[in-house]
Amino acid sequence: MEDSPDIVAVMVSVSVEGPYSYRVPAGMTVTRGSIVAVPLIGRLTLGVVWGQPKDNFAHNRLKDIARVYDVPPLSEELLRLVEWVSRYTLAAPGAVLRAVLRSTEALEAERPITAFRKTGHEPERMTDARLRVMDVVADGLAWAKAAIVGASGVSPSVVEGLEKAGALERIEIPPPPIALPPDPDAARPRLSTEQQAAMDQIRSLDPHKFGVALLDGVTGGGKTEVFFEAVADTLEAGRQALILLPEIALTHTFLERFTRRFGTRPAEWHSDMTPVQRARTWRGVLTGQVRAVVGARSALFLPFHELGMIVLDEEHDGAFKQSDGVNYHARDMAVVRGSLSQARVILSSATPSVESRNNADTGKYLHVKLESRFAAAQLPDITALDMREEGPEKGSWIAPRLAREIFATLDRGEQALLFLNRRGYAPLTLCRACGHQYQCPDCSAWLVEHRFRGVLMCHHCGHEQKVPKACGECGSVDSLVPIGPGIERVAEEAAARFPDARRVILSSDMGSNAQLRDRFTEIEKGEYDLVIGTQLVAKGHHFEKLTLVGVLDADLGLAHGDPRAAEKTFQILTQVTGRAGRAARAGKAFLQTYHPTHPVMEAMVRSDREAFYQHELKVRRDGQLPPFGRLAALIVSANEHDDAFNFARRLLAAAPMAEDLRLFGPADAPVAMVRGRHRVRLLAQSAKDFDLSGYVRFWLGNAERPTGNLRVQVDIDPQSF
Ligand code: ADP
Ligand code: ZN
Ligand code: ZN
Repeated sequence: MEDSPDIVAVMVSVSVEGPYSYRVPAGMTVTRGSIVAVPLIGRLTLGVVWGQPKDNFAHNRLKDIARVYDVPPLSEELLRLVEWVSRYTLAAPGAVLRAVLRSTEALEAERPITAFRKTGHEPERMTDARLRVMDVVADGLAWAKAAIVGASGVSPSVVEGLEKAGALERIEIPPPPIALPPDPDAARPRLSTEQQAAMDQIRSLDPHKFGVALLDGVTGGGKTEVFFEAVADTLEAGRQALILLPEIALTHTFLERFTRRFGTRPAEWHSDMTPVQRARTWRGVLTGQVRAVVGARSALFLPFHELGMIVLDEEHDGAFKQSDGVNYHARDMAVVRGSLSQARVILSSATPSVESRNNADTGKYLHVKLESRFAAAQLPDITALDMREEGPEKGSWIAPRLAREIFATLDRGEQALLFLNRRGYAPLTLCRACGHQYQCPDCSAWLVEHRFRGVLMCHHCGHEQKVPKACGECGSVDSLVPIGPGIERVAEEAAARFPDARRVILSSDMGSNAQLRDRFTEIEKGEYDLVIGTQLVAKGHHFEKLTLVGVLDADLGLAHGDPRAAEKTFQILTQVTGRAGRAARAGKAFLQTYHPTHPVMEAMVRSDREAFYQHELKVRRDGQLPPFGRLAALIVSANEHDDAFNFARRLLAAAPMAEDLRLFGPADAPVAMVRGRHRVRLLAQSAKDFDLSGYVRFWLGNAERPTGNLRVQVDIDPQSF
């Protein structure tokens, strides 16, 4: 649009289909990507100029654009990303756009800070209050008004009075820069020969073109240093870089590491920030002042104009796909954004997803490997403990052999980690008198006892109730018993058996982010001998003195009927055993299992990642499962089970026929009831080259619409199926 046309199509940031037409008032100039405010059903809504309108409305029936914001227009690639995500996930484009335009705060110019400085003129009339203010500004520096008020204890009018009297002058200070440019040379490490070879491979990708590298290296292999080097290249080439992490819990240590490497803190983007901080990062990214961002998956929607590199650290992590709002997998979207921006993408992991591994095998991604640990560090020696023969006594969760290893480790002054991926005290509470088992009133899930907090809790919906004194069913007193272990129960046993060890328990529900951060620092400093934790401790941490890892239930996770169960179990076991022996001292790990011959356990014990991938790829290929086929889940939910079930049946009957497509269901969803709503699932499975998103859109577009309390949710590429 060279000349501003009279009518344009505006995509509004609400969940509606397609753009709407608006008039451009005289004197206003807009272009594709301009951020505007438009009237919509009686109020102003943020939107983006999308282009020419498709339909020709009569001029006089249209409303005017109310305002165009004074910021650079969004890039073409970002608009195309919104369209892509909308088409792929079936979310309305306006709903996706809402993830881009988070608030109006970022769109308004930042106001300068008003400060006061002494002029040197004494005011004619001096009061006690005025004297106190003059004392504060006696240093001749510029003081913000609020700071003067705070330091002197006077009211703001005294400051204004002194300004009128000519004793103070007002100065406007521009807001501080959002982030200083990172310095690629601030602390360049000397790469090992293997790291250098990896870097050479990454540099073989054209820096001005799209390309994906899978950085596939053992835990502690030095992957972070390698992708930092690639980020440095990008910054030197004058382009922006984005690093995505799966969890905010990891961000803090990571930011410090980035700061050490690049001499300045990167801009951040995650849910733990204030709206003002978010607005500043957003605006800085758009104007180009921000050169590097470290953030959560939603940072993929930031308005970069010069994006040259996207790194996904721990690319296999399930947290990269969540079903809050727009349901997408950050890995897929990073690759799409990279291709739209002609940027390079690095997917980094010690346990790549089967999808990425397959893309590396077929040559779609560059396969960059780091096979040995950095410097003298060795991979841990892993042993499976067959629980059928070497299991602990009744009422204990730690096998005798593992207990002996813990004692030996403590004797050497080293750290041990006991890992169980289950929060709380006990996963099930049972009445010995009547057999009653405590279940969530709203979900199909057991209530988990959290003894630390004194509640029974549902891990699906958060429902909580006090731990009862008597059975709610038969009234018996003292008849309730906990069944099975949670991490708090393991901690209890550890306290009894290793009373002299300095112990710490780490679970996401047992402290604020700040408290957990402090615990991690204390562990790093060696202030604890025995760490007891859930998956929170499995990832990313580098504890120098940790040499022993005991996994109390290695089979947890394998039990589900989920075809991704083996992959997820392999990943978490590799991550947690990888915490052992990351520095000079060699590490050991023990896996307590009832299935020592399971392919996952065998691959773990032999440290044979290849065997696992070959086995898993074959299973997926044989079953036409991802990455060799496509899946989409339709979840129909309703207050009454029959309503959901019958609607799902009618949907199924309305499904168009297609070759290479199979439909399954209706069946109760893996979690059949959540928050009082019954969930029934239909599953569509297709060949890989079939446009499954397009098929589902066509299907639902022509089928009966859900009414009343019925709802249909579409999940393309469901993570558990
Ligand atoms: P990964 O990301 O593969 O788990 P890291 O990058 O965290 O591995 O490296 C493991 C340890 O080795 C870290 O303490 C890191 O600082 C150190 N390290 C890695 N590469 C180098 C290097 N080239 N020079 C100095 N220290 C390094
Ligand atoms: Zn009972
Ligand atoms: Zn519940």
